[in-house]
Amino acid sequence: MTDTADEYATFPCDLCGAAESVEVPHSRDFHRGEPIDICLRCGFVYVKRRRSARRIADVWSADIFGAGYTSAIPAVIARLTFVAEFLNQHVPLAGRRVVEIGAGEGTFLRMLRERYGADVFGVEPSPANCRQLASAGIEHLQGTIEEYTSNSGSPSMDVAAILWTLENCQDCRRMLDGAYHALEPGGVLTVATGSRILVPFKKPLHTYFGQNPADTHAFRFSANTLRGILAVSGFETVHINRFLDSDVLCVIAKKTDRSRAISWTGDPPMDVHTFFERWYVDTKMYYPDRT
Ligand SMILES: [Zn+2]
Repeated sequence: MTDTADEYATFPCDLCGAAESVEVPHSRDFHRGEPIDICLRCGFVYVKRRRSARRIADVWSADIFGAGYTSAIPAVIARLTFVAEFLNQHVPLAGRRVVEIGAGEGTFLRMLRERYGADVFGVEPSPANCRQLASAGIEHLQGTIEEYTSNSGSPSMDVAAILWTLENCQDCRRMLDGAYHALEPGGVLTVATGSRILVPFKKPLHTYFGQNPADTHAFRFSANTLRGILAVSGFETVHINRFLDSDVLCVIAKKTDRSRAISWTGDPPMDVHTFFERWYVDTKMYYPDRT
């Protein structure tokens, strides 16, 4: 059953579980809907009030993808090419079974199949995107990762990929759990995001926050908090790209048996607060009509 109601639930910090937070300075000047917060214990940036996972997937399918989004543009092909090459250099993909969670139109999976010889599978909630996966001959499940893991039985994948998607789901821990259960022991997960923080500013704040509802982009990771959310989900980071001078933050992490805690550090909350204050000043300087 599709949940069409805009009912919100309140979440504590997904990374450390604390409830205390402060708002990201100036974020309400730029985006619509609920506030974006900084956890006062670990510095994680997250939206506390969110609609259901199904509702957020539907908003992405109907209002965002449905509005003409396509991954078949040079900027997106370039970043996916980077991730594919980064992944293949560390984890040779020939013959490996790869699941992409949030497979979109299948651009990344086609790349892995055609250039590297991977055996690919997509999980994708958007019906329009699934039609494209079907026409490309990519095996897939139309649904969310929760639906995939409850239907797929035993873990069978060597590699899981979550690209420009972890920040856009309702519950990042649950999505990572889904990846965990899809992977065989020793399997690897790659996560890439362009919403990284505590790095040089790559764009003005009004394009960073965008116009979509806040809960369609509930998380914004630094390298530390991305490692952290992977650690608390049972994944140990083994490779990370040179994210400081790239627009992409890309991590490869190994599934552990969860028999021991993996150490992680968050970010000092006031450093995160100051980062956004500085970004606001920078945007104001170059785009005074947008601040
Ligand atoms: Zn926290």
